[in-house]
Amino acid sequence: MSEMPAERTVDRSHMQVSDEIAIQITHMNKWYGTFHVLRDINLTVHRGERIVIAGPSGSGKSTLIRCINRLEEHQSGEIIVDGTELSSDLKNIDKIRSEVGMVFQHFNLFPHLTILENCTLAPIWVRKVPRKQATETAMHFLEKVKIPEQANKYPGQLSGGQQQRVAIARSLCMMPRIMLFDEPTSALDPEMIKEVLDTMVELAEEGMTMLCVTHEMGFARQVANRVIFMDQGQIVEQNEPEAFFNNPQHERTKLFLSQIL
Ligand code: ADP
Ligand code: MG
Repeated sequence: MSEMPAERTVDRSHMQVSDEIAIQITHMNKWYGTFHVLRDINLTVHRGERIVIAGPSGSGKSTLIRCINRLEEHQSGEIIVDGTELSSDLKNIDKIRSEVGMVFQHFNLFPHLTILENCTLAPIWVRKVPRKQATETAMHFLEKVKIPEQANKYPGQLSGGQQQRVAIARSLCMMPRIMLFDEPTSALDPEMIKEVLDTMVELAEEGMTMLCVTHEMGFARQVANRVIFMDQGQIVEQNEPEAFFNNPQHERTKLFLSQIL
C-alpha cells in the first residue's frame, strides 16, 4: 500500500502483558430490538493488554465496550470481567463499574460540580472512601494529568482537552483495573488531541489494561499490542499493529485502512 506511513519499529517490550485474563467474551450476541448489533463476539483480554478497536461508524464498537461495563446488556453468550460473569441477576454491578473505568467522546463531566468534586463524587458515594482521602487521591490524579491548578474550576471553564483529562483522572480515582475509551479524542480540536493521547500513553506504560476505540492509528502503532477490526457487528480481523497495518487479510479491513490512512 503506497499510502501507508513508513514502517517504524516500536519497542513495546517494557509493556508487560500477563497470563492473567482480565476480560473473557465468548459467543456473545446482542440485539437492539430485532437489529442484531453484535454477532458471535469472542475476545480474550489479558491483564496489561492495550487493545485498539477500529472499524467503520455503526460497526458496533461502542456497543461492545458498553457491554463490558454493563451500560448495555447482551442477550446470549458470556462476558466475564475480572472473574465476574455479567448476567441479568448481577448484584455487584457497582463493583464492575468501579473496576472498569470508562472515558467517553463527550467527557460527560457533571457541569454543576467543580473539577475536584467531579473526581471525588463516586469514590465517596460508591466506594465509601472518606472525603479527605478521596480529595488527596483526586489531587494526585489531577497532577498526573497535569491540571491540579484547575481543581476548583467548573468544567465549562476548561478547554476540551483539559476536560477530557479530568474525565480520565475521574475514572482513575475509582482505582479501576481496566480502562475503556470510546473515541476519547474525536470531539477535540486537533491541538488538544496530543495532550489526551499523551495521558493515555502514560497509562499504557504503567501497565493499565486498556480497550480504546479510536481512529488515532499513530496511537495504535505506538501503544497497542493488538488491533481489532470490527465491521457489521463482527470482529473481522485482529493482529498486532505492524501486521494489521502492513498486511491486512480481509477486503473490508483493506478498504477501511485505505480510507483512514
Ligand atoms: P460504532 O460505535 O461502531 O459507531 P455503535 O455501537 O454505536 O457503533 O452502533 C452500532 C449499531 O447499532 C448502529 O447501527 C447504531 O445505529 C445502532 N445502535 C446503537 N445504539 C442503539 C440503540 N440504543 N438502539 C438502537 N440501535 C442502536
Ligand atoms: Mg461509537
